[in-house]
Amino acid sequence: MTLDVAALRAEFPILATQVHDAPLVYLDNAATTQKPQAVLDALMHYYTHDNANVHRGAHTLADRATRDFEAAREATAAFIGASDARGIIFTRGTTESINLVANVLSERLGPGDEILVTELEHHANLVPWQMLAARTGAVLRVAAIDAAGQVDLADFGNKLSTRTRIAAFSHVSNALGTVNPVEEMTRLARAVGALVLVDGAQAIAHLPVNVEAIGCDFYAFSAHKLFAPTGVGVLWGRTALLDALPPWQGGGEMIETVAYTHSTWQPAPHRFEAGTPNIAGVIGLGAALRWFSAQPRAALIAHENTLVEATLQAFGEIPEIRLVGTPQHRVSVVSFLLADAHPHDVGTLLDRQGIAVRTGHHCTMPLMQRLGVPGTVRASYSVYNTLDDVHRLVAGIRKTLTFL
Ligand code: PMP
Repeated sequence: MTLDVAALRAEFPILATQVHDAPLVYLDNAATTQKPQAVLDALMHYYTHDNANVHRGAHTLADRATRDFEAAREATAAFIGASDARGIIFTRGTTESINLVANVLSERLGPGDEILVTELEHHANLVPWQMLAARTGAVLRVAAIDAAGQVDLADFGNKLSTRTRIAAFSHVSNALGTVNPVEEMTRLARAVGALVLVDGAQAIAHLPVNVEAIGCDFYAFSAHKLFAPTGVGVLWGRTALLDALPPWQGGGEMIETVAYTHSTWQPAPHRFEAGTPNIAGVIGLGAALRWFSAQPRAALIAHENTLVEATLQAFGEIPEIRLVGTPQHRVSVVSFLLADAHPHDVGTLLDRQGIAVRTGHHCTMPLMQRLGVPGTVRASYSVYNTLDDVHRLVAGIRKTLTFL
């Protein structure tokens, strides 16, 4: 299948928006992706025809809502190569998925134990582990990166030991676009008996993900970075492991029996899904997966890589641009600084030209400190971006330079 980007763009109504009298160039896909009509239609259809609570149904609408909600679970499992859909837990997002794991591991950690992360991590894959360490007396260790913004595998290996209870690292860095060798890192961590959590928030829309091939214990991502609504996340875990862990939040849906004195729990995934979930959002995720899976995946990946390469090449011709992060293997993200301008000023001047980029620390304050920068300007691509968007960005930067 070949890629017709114009036809694909036409499926995203928001891309026709004008910003400051210019056609929108949306380059903030690492923050959130836009939604195709198929997903918007699924949300409207659910609320118009099927709205009911799930899993409680003695009536037709409840059956329909439950069917579509559970179909999304099956589709999610298939999308990430998970052999058992019971391992798919729906959360609010990557952040909640990681907090869930950090909380249910509390009883397994104590003084003398270690948690290993890397210098690349988003606050969502750092702060919950700091909190777990504070609760349990465990120590948080941080594997170094090199000057290009890649994990130093030797340092990662050196910081692993039989004291390491969990290693948590991103599949792709949201700040630099670095693709981590997650299979290798997982192998090293599991070899010392550690559990492994991979933060897949930035990988899920850009790389084929197969959790069984990675070999990790947990994989987390957010639906909204995959063309689906906000407010839905996924935590995949090995089913036997999930069934052996205690619940996090208590309430409806997660129990088997309740008495005034004590309660017993459902097996996974319901043990970890207390209360009414974001039903419409999960059904929207199901629609997004159907939409995405019908696209020519290899062509989409090649297209995104072309956009990144074209950006790097054009940036190479602008001496005032300093790239932040030069990893050998990157997807979607290009972070940079322009002359000695503050990233926020660059972002504002680009916005005036209809170009949406992200500026600031990208929820990676320790990483920015490590790199010695106040923040960056970040352009991040998705499947619906075009070479024309790249040209508009480059022209926008050249014009911005005349204001500095
Ligand atoms: N990890 C990474 C690598 C991310 O890019 C993000 C989102 N910026 C998160 C975690 C948190 O995702 P969410 O805000 O959807 O929970």
